[in-house]
Amino acid sequence: MLQTIPAFDRIGEENAFAVLARATALAAEGRDIVNLGIGQPDFSTPDHIVEAAVKALRDGHHGYTPATGLLATREAVARRTLALTGVEVSPENIMILPGGKPTMFAAILMFGEPGAEILYPDPGFPIYRSMIEFTGAKPVPVPIREANGFAFSAEETLSLITPQTRLLILNSPANPTGGVTPRAEIEKLVSGLERHPHVAVMSDEIYDVMTYDGEEHCSLLKFPEIRDRLIVLNGWSKTWAMTGWRMGWSIWPDGLYDKVRKLAVNCWSCVNAPSQFAGIAAIDGPQDDVEKMMHAFDRRRRIVVEGLNSLPGVSCVTPKGAFYAFPNISAIGWPAKTLANALLEEAGVALIGGPDFGVLGEGYVRVSYANSEENILRAIERIGDFLSNSQRS
Ligand code: PLP
Repeated sequence: MLQTIPAFDRIGEENAFAVLARATALAAEGRDIVNLGIGQPDFSTPDHIVEAAVKALRDGHHGYTPATGLLATREAVARRTLALTGVEVSPENIMILPGGKPTMFAAILMFGEPGAEILYPDPGFPIYRSMIEFTGAKPVPVPIREANGFAFSAEETLSLITPQTRLLILNSPANPTGGVTPRAEIEKLVSGLERHPHVAVMSDEIYDVMTYDGEEHCSLLKFPEIRDRLIVLNGWSKTWAMTGWRMGWSIWPDGLYDKVRKLAVNCWSCVNAPSQFAGIAAIDGPQDDVEKMMHAFDRRRRIVVEGLNSLPGVSCVTPKGAFYAFPNISAIGWPAKTLANALLEEAGVALIGGPDFGVLGEGYVRVSYANSEENILRAIERIGDFLSNSQRS
């Protein structure tokens, strides 16, 4: 047996992909599966974006691009950032990467090592913890509580900072809870961070425009006092339904930009040109498809929350962002992953057990409403039938 370094035995993964594989296998056997497990929009990438990529290929853009991204793509990101946040960011601080994930990979690698502590949301996107473990740093969970509307608490976050803390990971709007942290809480956090200048911040804002009920996303970019230690992760995957294009961007402080550029040169070289032309078209082109998608998500969000709250033993906070609901199923009395598994195998409904997002996810499941209203209603009915049958038996 070949011996790899121990880090590879500590690396985790995203169970959503395993659930997707199982759901696909069951469907291939002829089972009717409603998939509420998946973390990607069920819409296609808008046509004008696809056309921009096709045109780029036809125009001969087949070669390497700069490791940091095409200047035109970085300028487009700068325009979008200014339009959305009112903050001017130089293209010299913007990286184009193959998806949102490489930014967390790079940021966690930069700060994680044995002896270091990295704070991350729990429940939260599973790759944060996995990558922290990979580096040998100590993962320190920041509890994300239902009682707080699944926003993070500035006070609790600040109380977990020690002299060993190197990086704080934030995510709002959040996966898996749909929580959006209000501006006042972020202001409190930023003002507390002034006492801890040794802590870098990675703010994962990939769901930035996916908010509801007038809730506004507050970007960490709005706080100049932490700009010299702030990394902002964002990308095309969710907003423009481009998960398979592998296109993300991030904003880095001067002191870190050259390090991430070098990592890119060593690892993925660059992002393919057609995707980057598509990315420009996404930012500069019409946003009607994004608006239509958000209207559809908003309608489904209401249906999902109402449906879940009508089920015995289930209570669901109304999510304010992203396209996930995170119902509390603790009153059912089943471990969340056992329930999720039984729902897939016996009721044909795929969703993800809360513990796949951290220990504090026990008692919850993640329901993605990136599926049709009809399928959402079918899923709720099936879950309802399953719960009444399992309570009877
Ligand atoms: N950050 C969060 C919070 C996510 O939910 C996801 C994807 O699910 C990502 C980052 C990664 O996005 P990408 O597919 O662009 O790598």
